Amino acid sequence: MAEVPGAEQELRRLGVYLLEQVRVVAAHVTPDAVIPDSALPDAPEVAEWTEPLRYRYSLRVQTALAAGESAAAAVHRSAEAFAAGGFDIVEDRRAGTVASRIVVTGSRDGFRIEVRVWPETGDVVYAGVTPMLALRTPRAQELPDPVRTAGTVEPGHVLCYECGGLGWCPACGGNGWVLDDAGLRQPCPECREQRVCPICRGAGQLQVARLRPVERAMYPQLADGSAGEDPS
Ligand SMILES: [Zn+2]
Ligand SMILES: [Zn+2]
Repeated sequence: MAEVPGAEQELRRLGVYLLEQVRVVAAHVTPDAVIPDSALPDAPEVAEWTEPLRYRYSLRVQTALAAGESAAAAVHRSAEAFAAGGFDIVEDRRAGTVASRIVVTGSRDGFRIEVRVWPETGDVVYAGVTPMLALRTPRAQELPDPVRTAGTVEPGHVLCYECGGLGWCPACGGNGWVLDDAGLRQPCPECREQRVCPICRGAGQLQVARLRPVERAMYPQLADGSAGEDPS
C-alpha cells in the first residue's frame, strides 16, 4: 500500500479546523472554558476498519457550567452557535447510568460536534470528530504466488482441489479477512483468520493415498484407480 500524497497533512488540517470550531461553539456556550491545544491528539484514530483503513481526529473536552448558569440556557446557546456556523442541529435527551444528559449535535461537511450538558451536575462535555480520510491507497488484491504448481507438485500428490496449489486461503488470499459489501473488514469465513487453505493447511497439495472417496472423485485423472469405491 502506498501513502496517499498529502492525505496526512489534509487530515491534520481538518483536525485543527475541528479544534477551531469547537472553540467557537464553546466560546458561546461556556465563555470561561479553556479549550487547550492539547485537546487535539497528536495522531488520528482508525474510524472505520475498511480497506484501506479510514482515519479521523476526535477530541473531547470536559468543562462545567458557570455557577448559577442553567442547563437550558447552555443548550439554547449551543443551538445558536451551531446555527451561526451553518451546522445541521439535532437535540436529544439521553438517559445515563448516573445522570441524564442533553446532547446538542451539530453536523456539517462530515464534521460532527456534540455539546453534552448534564443538568443535575452542571458538567459540560464538548466532543467532536473530523470527516474520515484514507491515508493509504487500497492494498492490491493480487494473490500471493502458489506454494505448489503442476510443475512442482510432489510424486504421489495432487494439487489441492480447494486452493489449486495456492496454499494460502483462496477466499481471502492469505489476508485472514475479507471485505463485506460496505467495505468493512470481516474475519474470513473460510479460513477463520488462519490465513492458510483449510483443506491442505498451506501445503498446496494433497497426498493421493489419503484422499477420501469424495475428494478423489474431484480428480478425473485418478478415476482409473478408483474402481470399487463409492463415488458419493
Ligand atoms: Zn489448499
Ligand atoms: Zn481466508
